[in-house]
Amino acid sequence: MSVGAEVAQGNLVDEGLSIRAEMAVYGVQVDAPVRRSKGAGPSDDGHLVVDGANATLPIVADSPYQVRDGSVYRNGLDLGLSVEPVSRPKFYDLTTAEGIPYRQIALLHGKDVLATTVVQTCIRYDESTRCRFCSIEESLRSGATVAAKTPAQLAEVAEAAVRLDGVTQMVMTTGTTNGPDRGARNLVRCVKAVLQAVPGLPIQVQIEPPGDLRVLAELREAGATSIGIHVESLDDEVRRRWMPGKSTVSLAEYEAAWDEAVRVFGWNRVSTYLLIGMGESADELVRGAAGLIDRGVYPFVVPLRPMLGTLARADGVTPPDARVVREVTARVAALLAEAGMRGADQGAGCAACGACSLLSAAGS
Ligand code: SF4
Repeated sequence: MSVGAEVAQGNLVDEGLSIRAEMAVYGVQVDAPVRRSKGAGPSDDGHLVVDGANATLPIVADSPYQVRDGSVYRNGLDLGLSVEPVSRPKFYDLTTAEGIPYRQIALLHGKDVLATTVVQTCIRYDESTRCRFCSIEESLRSGATVAAKTPAQLAEVAEAAVRLDGVTQMVMTTGTTNGPDRGARNLVRCVKAVLQAVPGLPIQVQIEPPGDLRVLAELREAGATSIGIHVESLDDEVRRRWMPGKSTVSLAEYEAAWDEAVRVFGWNRVSTYLLIGMGESADELVRGAAGLIDRGVYPFVVPLRPMLGTLARADGVTPPDARVVREVTARVAALLAEAGMRGADQGAGCAACGACSLLSAAGS
């Protein structure tokens, strides 16, 4: 390729990432049948496939980005991106023998990821201690889900989702429980049950640093492919402000858990969320991501889009500047590429799915 062609291609990638960053922040006008408006974690979105890859984008009625006939338009101009809403999966029509709809047990994320919050309550959900971006118990209050999913229920739903809808991986997260393992041991039982029903299904477990690190090996032995230990911010002041309860778990505990998880699961089988939009500068976020990559941990950088039911949304917090999202994503993607770390190589989980971040659009 000539230097001129390389520069032209680089500009196109830059422009494409700028558009994707704006779509992530301003949302899109589209009718998406698979949506998530409340629950654990930081994004409130419709599930779409953009240029063949999973993408969760806010559905916003007056967004400047409109989806028509499978393409994205802005000011009447076709931006050259293909967009397909994810179809409602067939397993959503099924119900367990006890009468619980499958979709109250697990949801489809993107076109091929089954996601569940095994325990839908959190010891930190008090007004004064809950994470300001999370609404884990709101979906429970609205009746969209059940408080605790049993291993047998998860196995039943996973089998159907793989058979009927071509699900290729599963994500299991949990609200933090009172036990010394903070909920991790329950996931051991869930992973075992699902793998008995669907041998070989890649599963990512997501936990807080467990008090007893030996449970990490138990999760791996149970058959989990990868693990997310999500810190969201590496700045203690930001952590105290945004996560008053969770920030009582020190960064040193996170580091010990990441290191043990990398030892047990392997390099690039461990990931963490870093949220763009809680007050850290681009430089601070990129520096933090570089440190994680050095440890073998994939930094899944995600723009914060406050969900319905969160304290952040009630406070009127808005998503970050799209230019900052683009810059942080591009710089972290370059660091990941240099390290040879690809989200897809996690095998399962958010980095493998990629929908909530722009890293895959940036080539990671
Ligand atoms: S990145 Fe994670 S939270 Fe987002 S859609 Fe994919 S599996 Fe779900």
